[in-house]
Amino acid sequence: MTRLIFLGPPGAGKGTQAKALADHWQIPHISTGDILRQALKEQTPLGIKAQSYMDKGELVPDHLVQAMVEERLKQPDTEPGWILDGFPRTVQQASFLEGLLQKLEQRGERVVNLDVPDDIVVGRLLERGRKDDNEDVIRRRLEVYRSETAPLIDYYSSKQQLLIVNGNQSLEEVTIELTKAIA
Ligand code: AMP
Repeated sequence: MTRLIFLGPPGAGKGTQAKALADHWQIPHISTGDILRQALKEQTPLGIKAQSYMDKGELVPDHLVQAMVEERLKQPDTEPGWILDGFPRTVQQASFLEGLLQKLEQRGERVVNLDVPDDIVVGRLLERGRKDDNEDVIRRRLEVYRSETAPLIDYYSSKQQLLIVNGNQSLEEVTIELTKAIA
């Protein structure tokens, strides 16, 4: 049973690694960013509400993302495990998740922090060129990461749940280190 939470700044390679491991273990890769982008594309009520936040590099309000994650984790395909990518992003979300996993009897989760220096992250995001990746938005997303999400490193490390992996290596090297850390 693998239940894994990926932390790390935007551009750390969370999505790529999470996807590779989820394929390998045949468990769902749950990316809140992907779910929100899909909702936005389909202009669902959630997508319409989330759009202005995403366009500015701000976080979508906790209650919206939390409801979305709750719905997703209740699906039967999560039974053999899951990888969460991009959630939680605030201490409030982390504490919600803990209660939710308790309620769904899905505890035993581990948390990986993909550690990558700031300058490397900015370079990677600029190269990626997604719609929400222009320079102002990137700067804002990093600010939001530092103030809202980075505190989760201490939060999980004080609970002895945190594994730290050096994300500043080749894709293959990161996958190898991750696989070892999780084994
Ligand atoms: P990502 O693909 O994970 O970088 O997410 C893209 C955007 O979706 C973020 O900049 C946020 O606006 C929004 N988002 C994704 N996950 C969350 C979350 N857990 N909490 C709030 N907003 C989120």
